[in-house]
Amino acid sequence: MTANSTITRFAPSPTGRLHIGNARTALFNGLLARRTGGEMILRLEDTDRERSRADFEQGIFEELRWLGLDWRQGPDTGGPHAPYRQSERQVIYDEYYRQLEDANLAYPCFCSQESLKLARKTLLAAGKPPRYAGTCANLSRDEVESRFAAGKKATLRFRVPSNETVSFDDIVRGEQRFATGDIGDFVIRRTDGTPSFFFSNAVDDALMGVTHALRGEDHLANTPRQILLSRALNLPSPRYGHFPLVLDSDGGPLSKRLGSLGLADLRDHGYLPLALANYLARLGHGYAEEKFRSLEELAADFDVNRFGRAPAKYDPGQLRHWQKEAMLRLTDDDFEAWLLVHAGPLFTALDADARRAFTLAVRDNVALPVDAERMAERLLGNDIGNDADVIAVIAEAGGSFFRDAAALLDDAETFSEFSKAVGGKTGQKGKALFMPLRAAFSGETHGPEMARLWQLLGKEKIRARLAHAAEIADKS
Ligand code: GLU
Repeated sequence: MTANSTITRFAPSPTGRLHIGNARTALFNGLLARRTGGEMILRLEDTDRERSRADFEQGIFEELRWLGLDWRQGPDTGGPHAPYRQSERQVIYDEYYRQLEDANLAYPCFCSQESLKLARKTLLAAGKPPRYAGTCANLSRDEVESRFAAGKKATLRFRVPSNETVSFDDIVRGEQRFATGDIGDFVIRRTDGTPSFFFSNAVDDALMGVTHALRGEDHLANTPRQILLSRALNLPSPRYGHFPLVLDSDGGPLSKRLGSLGLADLRDHGYLPLALANYLARLGHGYAEEKFRSLEELAADFDVNRFGRAPAKYDPGQLRHWQKEAMLRLTDDDFEAWLLVHAGPLFTALDADARRAFTLAVRDNVALPVDAERMAERLLGNDIGNDADVIAVIAEAGGSFFRDAAALLDDAETFSEFSKAVGGKTGQKGKALFMPLRAAFSGETHGPEMARLWQLLGKEKIRARLAHAAEIADKS
């Protein structure tokens, strides 16, 4: 692969929201292009007019950009091979249909849906591949004309050569071979004149100069059809690479539970784009080291030889891991902006100084909105909650520990002065000193640095919390 030669594409159908499965396909194609200084084209395969929608299109543009992908060829940017919506390319397809018909490589098929369905069922029941039987393959010209004259509608079928082998070197799976005898003549134009997927996808890849098409394994069986079509049209085929699909954590198909895994949902639930990119780039593809990477770094080490062959399972725990890593890398300003959206009303109600103090206190302890909300409740709310392990720590320390601590508050300027004084007075040190203080300050047994909590809470709140802890200890 030489620099500047790689043209990849992401070719979604705007019939739904992007989910992590197709976001991963987009990312792989984007990373491969970026690694080689090439480019990724965005093409909308909107041939299903009923199900394609403008709002889904818009969602695709926005969510891909949010993920950090970009393109200079696409429906919204234009480009040398425009238009990039298949619904706007019908005249191009018509020209290629004509070529195939003129060469007798395609023929009109008048078979009804019902008869095709029945034939399929019968073949399957007999344990045979459900190939088209070729009913309309050899109709005479007169017969065809009279059926059209009678108002009959026809699809156009591609005549698949018999007794050949289509082979190609799959980027992910290596050498693949398919016998044309198993394929059967397939539809390339629907009765309403619009192209079938095989046809428009193959024609557009060729005309747009696509060199590499990375896509899910579910398209593997389509590839020999597309290669046959391209050959018949004297068009080049891209190199194809089919990677394993993403499965749900229970091993079932992901598409069944897409609701919670839409890209927009993940964004609205506080996930950062680089967290997703780091996660998705490792879903079925590996990196030598497990370090967090920028998009450029993900691209630089992206390697088609590192695709796994086993299905990749969606793992929320891993996604959370990369989310935490991404959150740690935000600037304080960006972190605060994220909190404004996700930490809830206790945080938004604060003044600017208090917001910043809270931001700095919880910086290292928040991966997701639930964490931020919990921190806000604990640190900004009126009490420290009643977690069993917190109550146990407080009880263990005893009421006098907290009363002694409260008495030392006024003389301390910093947390370090304060904790030293409390240690001196109570004779406690290490965990036995810090854990009860943390529990009283924050209602948690782990969390932000104590010095930051000291800063955030201020002496009055700390006094009240120490008194509250003393009460809890006395009652226990
Ligand atoms: N529109 C197809 C899909 O969304 C594109 C498949 C391909 O990448 O070739 O599955």
